[in-house]
Amino acid sequence: MPLIPHLHVLVSNRTYATCLQYHADEHAKTHMCTPRMTTDIFDGLHYCSLLGERVVVRDQTLTHHYFSDHHDIALGFATNGFTPFKKRKHTAWILLVFNYNLPPDECFKRDNILCVGIIPGPKKPWNADLFIHLLVQELLELAIGVPTYDALSSRCFALHAYLITAFGDIPAVSMIMHMKGHNSLCPCRMCEIQGICILNSRNRTLYVPLSHRNHPELTDVVEYRPERLPLCSHNSFMAQANAVESMPTEVQREKLAKAYGIKGVPLLSALGSLRFPQSFPYNFMHLIWENVTDCLTYLILTFLFCPSRSASVHDSGLLCPLLTYLWIDLAFSRDFHIRLCVPLSLILSLSVTFFRLPVASPVCVYKL
Ligand SMILES: [Zn+2]
Repeated sequence: MPLIPHLHVLVSNRTYATCLQYHADEHAKTHMCTPRMTTDIFDGLHYCSLLGERVVVRDQTLTHHYFSDHHDIALGFATNGFTPFKKRKHTAWILLVFNYNLPPDECFKRDNILCVGIIPGPKKPWNADLFIHLLVQELLELAIGVPTYDALSSRCFALHAYLITAFGDIPAVSMIMHMKGHNSLCPCRMCEIQGICILNSRNRTLYVPLSHRNHPELTDVVEYRPERLPLCSHNSFMAQANAVESMPTEVQREKLAKAYGIKGVPLLSALGSLRFPQSFPYNFMHLIWENVTDCLTYLILTFLFCPSRSASVHDSGLLCPLLTYLWIDLAFSRDFHIRLCVPLSLILSLSVTFFRLPVASPVCVYKL
């Protein structure tokens, strides 16, 4: 379904138009009372950095500013692959748009999520830009302004809507950002860390140790400090993407793409309201539930039941401080939901893992 007719209907309906004022009314009041509290996306650094900036469309700076009118709508975009049939051979990709102007407890409800397209399978799209092209065209029109009837004031005005974030799992976001992905030499979209592989091994899997001191291969990096990672900026990302595109031959282009982890300029960069990579945050569900929790459970169980496999980690004295640090960090998070997730996710993951492991017994739970 096209985006602009959908927004037309919302704004010209009195009930929905009232709900859309959450951003201008309710959130503004809460933010005035507690300016440092993060209640939703409008407290985020990216949204705040857009305020006061003039709208840019195709390298042209317009006269109006981002979110200067109370009608202006903030949108989010998400995509992910799913398997529509029981035999999980075929995949399709869904394209969703979220309306952040609705109250936070409403904007993620199924009735309020807009499906702007489905990329048919059976395989992952070779070029997702072909499928989001129409959406980007509509977003460019909305950045300029589309004449719309307002049900609240009973008058016509120029409706503006801006895409401020895009998310999904790592493969999906890598696809829309034109990045090589998490198995590449530069696996992270937020920073410029580089992977290394085991020398003289047939296993070419790359991994990213914090310290390269004990690695036999000489690299430019000696050590990564977690609190001071070499973060990417919008300008550096776009400079690298343009450099890759400007290469005269396919071989040179591929070589540079491998070095940067970027395959070319993404179509979404046409939208001046997006910043690369800040507008593409990592997804909480995949980070905590499906990665950190699984990884911690695996480490704990390996440590307890397979001392030989965990010997290298154990000998280096890293395991206990690492686990303690991670769990304490999560358990004392300022976010209530994260704190709640810690015991729940541990119990859930342990239960699942114990069913798979015949050596497990209730004594192990006590030990943990
Ligand atoms: Zn990173």
